[in-house]
Amino acid sequence: MTSVAGPHKRLEGKVAIITGGASGIGACTAELFHENGAKVVIADIQDDLGQALATKLGGKACYIHCDVSKEDEVINLVDTTVAKYGRLDIMFNNAGIIEGQGLPVSVVESEKSDLDRLLSVNLGGAFLGAKHATRVMVQQRKGCILFTSSVCTSIAGLSGHAYAASKSGVCGLAKNLTPELGKYGIRVNCISPYGLVTGVSNVSGEGEANREFVEAMLSELGTLSGQTLRADGIAKAALFLASDEAYYVSGINMVVDGGYSVVNPRLV
Ligand code: NAD
Repeated sequence: MTSVAGPHKRLEGKVAIITGGASGIGACTAELFHENGAKVVIADIQDDLGQALATKLGGKACYIHCDVSKEDEVINLVDTTVAKYGRLDIMFNNAGIIEGQGLPVSVVESEKSDLDRLLSVNLGGAFLGAKHATRVMVQQRKGCILFTSSVCTSIAGLSGHAYAASKSGVCGLAKNLTPELGKYGIRVNCISPYGLVTGVSNVSGEGEANREFVEAMLSELGTLSGQTLRADGIAKAALFLASDEAYYVSGINMVVDGGYSVVNPRLV
């Protein structure tokens, strides 16, 4: 990854938690935040991957197992971070799952328990992360809470119903936390990507149907923007929003999709 640290490290002295930090967007963001001087806590359920990344980053990084859908594990994540590093400046609620990862795509084939599972990770995890980070940030009178949402909140047909519902919930959560937490010096922002091939690109289920969906997506995006989205495109957006350069940026949904949602006619 190309360094964007420049003449100064943009997160020097800050402590960041990144959920879903073992792979994809989260792992890339962990590396970039670390490179920019932050102490980074990688939180995930993929222990081997998360631990390997923490070891690779070295001294100012660690891995903590945390299933974001479980409140006791989120409390442990935040409390362990503060005990180890003394504060919490950035909470990046990024962990997510999607239909196709063992969950049905079709609403007819879905059980209520499938919806509950997806919501409990994507929306419940975002809520729990924000809630317990806020406990600490209110005391500090400063902090930054970030969420990963998705372009599928405004364009139909890019994901399954439950994923779209969960990410729409994340946007609503972020928007409504903005004034509530702003008075304590806590900024709240969303990032909405589209077009990165990662674990959560299994939008159409496993196998051939999904391969065709992903190929069509990449072709459309390549035509539109002349390039392909890499994880660092989202990590760099997160770096800006997490840094003091964004001190007056709160309540936004930063779309990182190469212009897709502006030109796409399927707006709902
Ligand atoms: P990814 O699958 O590589 O990363 C998701 C991470 O979340 C994984 O490391 C996974 O282990 C972790 N995770 C899953 N369930 C968890 C749980 N219960 N507790 C803790 N961690 C858990 O995919 P990604 O693309 O890097 O996804 C990151 C975020 O970006 C997700 O919220 C996803 O919905 C969102 N997103 C991705 C895209 C894209 O184009 N890839 C588009 C829009 C939104």
